Amino acid sequence: MLVDGFNRGISYLRLSITDRCNLHCIYCVPPYDERKLRHKDILRYEELLRVVRIAVKLGINKIRLTGGEPFVRKGVGEFVPMLTALKGLDDVSLTTNGVYLKDNLDMLKAAGITRINVSIDSLERERFKSITRFDYFNRVWEGIEKARDMGFSPIKLNVVIMKGVNDNEVLDFGRLAIEQPYYIRFIECMPIGLQANSLAFIPNPEIEKALVNRFGRLIAVSPGQNDGPARRFRFDGGEGEIGFISPISHCFCRDCNRLRLTANGMLLPCLLSDREVNIKDPLRRGCLDEELIEIFLKAVDLKPECHPLSLDNHRKVQRKMCSIGG
Ligand code: SAM
Repeated sequence: MLVDGFNRGISYLRLSITDRCNLHCIYCVPPYDERKLRHKDILRYEELLRVVRIAVKLGINKIRLTGGEPFVRKGVGEFVPMLTALKGLDDVSLTTNGVYLKDNLDMLKAAGITRINVSIDSLERERFKSITRFDYFNRVWEGIEKARDMGFSPIKLNVVIMKGVNDNEVLDFGRLAIEQPYYIRFIECMPIGLQANSLAFIPNPEIEKALVNRFGRLIAVSPGQNDGPARRFRFDGGEGEIGFISPISHCFCRDCNRLRLTANGMLLPCLLSDREVNIKDPLRRGCLDEELIEIFLKAVDLKPECHPLSLDNHRKVQRKMCSIGG
């Protein structure tokens, strides 16, 4: 088992398989961001599988595919089954913006993936378009409903609420969690990359208060084995759940169990730090497994105790979220 300097066990790896995305969400991708990684700089699928095999040897048992947008990478339909077939992984899941979800559900199901996260910040077509800069709401929603009908569970809907942008939809998302079996995850907008800083941040306790005022008590749900940092609740009689992911108002670094691998082969110890360890160059030099193990140990060693954001210190982090994958 990988354990860092603050006694945290590391068992979760997020794999960003591409930096490209077919949406340009206002808080994630800078408006005219045309800088893309070159094809040759992106880890090939066989390289990703080698890294995951090493990670599993070291005790990683949970993987999440992310991007950019994972479904825009060519060959993902062949890669996913190879990944889920690896021995030692208890949980493989995926985060998507849902634009190509409908076309990929059969593949995901056949590969044994049952849990998905879909990012959707508005339930209204026009607002969805103004947040993502693309008119794909209907496609995304069809994908979510088809996933529900096919029995995917849980289906988590990631929602970033921003003041003056979509904060008037908090209660609509709350109602959705009452009427449908979706797990709504309110994620606090982090000041990361060029865009997010200028948007009005709303702390999750304000959202919680609005929901309770309208729908009554939120009943705490006991955390499950594969839970991330979300504090989970449900409304009495509700079909779904409400979760709060609050990196700023309720720092959860104490329980952080994750590493991230970027599409260009950088192992990141923390989403909100500029520290990174290059794994691509050694891979391409044909290094031995021992060297890759050392790289993992180094990344774990570099995990900071806590990220630098807080309600008092709302400073900006330089990285682009769209290239790390959340
Ligand atoms: N394309 C996929 C998707 O849309 O889910 C995966 C990548 S996306 C970067 C992963 C998650 O990061 C999304 O749920 C998105 O809302 C979230 N995200 C991006 N920028 C963020 C920010 N500044 N603060 C909080 N969450 C952010």
